[in-house]
Amino acid sequence: MPSPPRNLATQPLRHPRAASGHLTPLRPIPTIAQNGVQFIQIASWINLGSGTASWLWHGFSTRKGGLSRVYCAEDAPGELNLGFTAADDREAVSRNRRLLVEAIAGSSEAALVTLRQVHSDHVILFKASDAAASEPREGDGLITDEPGLLLGVQTADCIPVLVADSKRRVVAAFHAGWRGTVNRIVESGVDSMRREFGSQPEDLTAAIGPGIGPCCYAVGEEVLSSFASLFSYGRELFHEVLASGSAEPAMHIDLVEANRRQLLDAGLPPHAIHRTGGCTHCMSDLFFSHRASKGNAGRMMAVIGIRSAVGEDYSTKRKRIDLL
Ligand SMILES: [Zn+2]
Repeated sequence: MPSPPRNLATQPLRHPRAASGHLTPLRPIPTIAQNGVQFIQIASWINLGSGTASWLWHGFSTRKGGLSRVYCAEDAPGELNLGFTAADDREAVSRNRRLLVEAIAGSSEAALVTLRQVHSDHVILFKASDAAASEPREGDGLITDEPGLLLGVQTADCIPVLVADSKRRVVAAFHAGWRGTVNRIVESGVDSMRREFGSQPEDLTAAIGPGIGPCCYAVGEEVLSSFASLFSYGRELFHEVLASGSAEPAMHIDLVEANRRQLLDAGLPPHAIHRTGGCTHCMSDLFFSHRASKGNAGRMMAVIGIRSAVGEDYSTKRKRIDLL
């Protein structure tokens, strides 16, 4: 018997329902550096550009490697906390940061640039002369065309997004939690690259790193209504997930997909947008997760930079600037 026609106007809006396991992104396989740091790379970026050596440095850290002792069991090896958190020893974090730079750039001499992140859409253009500042600047995106700098954004569930322009040799790093994503940090970042450096979206390639996945990221009504009111595809980013032992489904958001949609809207070709996979929350042996550790987590870092050419090393440039 045919089912009676449904009055769509009186139907509550349904979201696709899924078991959380079906939404879990694939677990990425880290590269292990000689100094023990484990980080994730995009395979097609390793030799980006002409010739065999890429012009690009990049990587997404994990919690593995490093010297921090505050977030692991007593008998565990040290961990790679890269954020100056209240719980961790400042010296251990500084040394971890040098280990990451060494793992990615092959030497600990490259200058690491970070931000005081505030979940905004504020993007900062970084010049060599800015590196002398003792305090990190406030914002959630960094762009540079200076070789020898490593731009870093810190995360522990939020989504890190890296963008590279092969033609003009410009790189960018963005921090996109749900608030930054609602604020269109990635769209405004690509817009800044276009405005300041003449980057064309079709020349850009992007990498979306590990964050809390749609399997685990249950959110409240305010998040759903923010996305639904601001993005034409907003509701498509949500799934209803029924947790075991729970009668009511929870609404989960897919922030990786949200940022992929922003990159597409900014004009990047679909094939130029890469994802590392991984969920920081349900793979908390590999990643720090703010939510999984109830706020007591270390920080990972996504970094990108333009490899310094011989004679154009940033450390040399910095010395020259200091002398002026
Ligand atoms: Zn998960």
